[in-house]
Amino acid sequence: MTVCLFDIDGTLIDSRGAGMAALHEAFRTEFGIEQRDESVPFSGRTDRGINTAYFASYGIDNTPENWTRFHAVYLRHLAVTLAARDGIVLPGVVPLLESLVGRDDFVVGLLTGNIRDAATAKLDHYGLSGYFDFGGFGDHHQSRNDVAREALREAQRRVNVQTQMDDVWVIGDTPLDVECARAIGGRVIAVATGNHPIEELAATQPDLVVRDLSDHEPLWQLWD
Ligand SMILES: [Mg+2]
Repeated sequence: MTVCLFDIDGTLIDSRGAGMAALHEAFRTEFGIEQRDESVPFSGRTDRGINTAYFASYGIDNTPENWTRFHAVYLRHLAVTLAARDGIVLPGVVPLLESLVGRDDFVVGLLTGNIRDAATAKLDHYGLSGYFDFGGFGDHHQSRNDVAREALREAQRRVNVQTQMDDVWVIGDTPLDVECARAIGGRVIAVATGNHPIEELAATQPDLVVRDLSDHEPLWQLWD
């Protein structure tokens, strides 16, 4: 059994910044933050990790109550920003998912820094929800490596036979996707459809690096 764990932003979709716009709107409307801090890194980070950094930067107490407030308002804004921006499903993604879910020797899941509800909103918006029924998410973990561990645990619950770690694949667009795949002992395909150029991704030594997912041949050479 082969397990494929997909990142969302920059890998499956390009929302044209809908998530980040919704985040800033949530801080503005709910917490009164007018001056954005643009220095917080987000690429490959988890929502929990990103927000911990923003709470610190904006002097907001990192309490469960404030996290819940943020979460609710962020999701409301996300529905608006997803609709307002002309985001896309990235090239080759739908045919790839179609071939994977059509095989009984493959299991497809998510490995994303998004909180679960935001992942659902994004996948619903782009018509991709039907391909995924489990994953690891960014609700609780500061580190993407812990998201990868959650995704792997969820995959193993769904697979009756023992999965070799050589058959666990992470597909993502950032150096942190490569790192988290290694953290669980899995393999990794880096795809340069996000913010990181192909040379930067290649330097992290993934098992395969591609410009986008439109050509499936190199992937099947690894998987078949
Ligand atoms: Mg990504």
